[in-house]
Amino acid sequence: MKPQPTLADLPLRPELVGEEPYGAPQLDVPVCLNVNENPYPPSGAMLVDMAQAIASGVYHRYPDREFTRLRSQLADYLGHGLGVANIWAANGSNEVMTHVLGAFGGPGRRVLTFTPTYSMYPEYARNTHTEYVTAPRREDYSLDAATILLAIERFSPTVVLITTPNNPTGTSTPLAVIEEVLAGTDAIVVVDEAYQEFARHPEQTALSLLAEHGNLVVSRTMSKAFAFAGGRLGYLAAAPAIVDACRIVRLPYHLSAQTQAVASVALRHADEMLARVDELRATRDELLRRGPEMGFDVVDSDANFVLIGRWADRHAAWQQLLDQGVLVRETGPDGFLRVSAGTPQEMAAFYDALARVDAARKGE
Ligand code: PMP
Repeated sequence: MKPQPTLADLPLRPELVGEEPYGAPQLDVPVCLNVNENPYPPSGAMLVDMAQAIASGVYHRYPDREFTRLRSQLADYLGHGLGVANIWAANGSNEVMTHVLGAFGGPGRRVLTFTPTYSMYPEYARNTHTEYVTAPRREDYSLDAATILLAIERFSPTVVLITTPNNPTGTSTPLAVIEEVLAGTDAIVVVDEAYQEFARHPEQTALSLLAEHGNLVVSRTMSKAFAFAGGRLGYLAAAPAIVDACRIVRLPYHLSAQTQAVASVALRHADEMLARVDELRATRDELLRRGPEMGFDVVDSDANFVLIGRWADRHAAWQQLLDQGVLVRETGPDGFLRVSAGTPQEMAAFYDALARVDAARKGE
């Protein structure tokens, strides 16, 4: 047999040379607080419903390419007078965003984001041949309209991405700011509301601006509040023409029959899926309170995670927590670790481990 080629032997796109596949470490540890998942699995009754939906599916035919039923359910969930024509979905909001950039980015075009922000965005840009440009958030990680509009003037992006609540800082951007930005640009403005359900005021959503602004896209996911990260369902709400643009670039039948069936069951049981959001919000607020009580800095968060620091050597702290079976995320501004809100048992294990790491750092 001929020796297998290495990547260096293959005609890889030059901009991919040296790149690693993206992803947080997936380690088998007792307490996983690293990827902002909802820690509560669906009930047994819901799993039976999902299994039944899969069992009664049709698999020898291609699935509904337009997944109209699911889009209708998503529209009903969002409200705000939205209908099927306003909704698009894919395998996670990661894929939705590559559809948006596939349609509105591309060679010679730019996407603008505000850092620190979600570490996947540069990859969406790279994979769609879109130039990735950034402007810094203010010192407290907030965003005001002047910062955004100045950056738009400077870079002339075709797509602007505003993440609220922001990952990894948890910072919300007020609706008034987004409204002012929309009044000042014709670029496609994507408001990534992946964590909106965890906000202190989830009803203050950019969905309320859709009727007035044809260039607005509101991106959501079922991965977080909806406790459906494994189901892979992200979606957007926008003007029908934006949905049509996404339909041009999507691969046909990108949402499998199983995904459509299971997501549809989850949406039918939205109340149960979202039941723990209040609890997780309280867990987040406790983290924001206890962190400083234990002598740590925290960044105020509207999401289901909190940045906690500041560590002189955050990698060492991450490792020491991991050695005690607690996996958090080494990401965000220097000296911080990001911790997702878990179950009471998981949080107890985290606080114990944190206290031990802190004692070790103080040389006790
Ligand atoms: N946007 C933000 C801000 C995120 O943090 C995430 C997940 N970490 C996503 C989008 C993607 O989520 P998914 O692909 O699971 O829908």
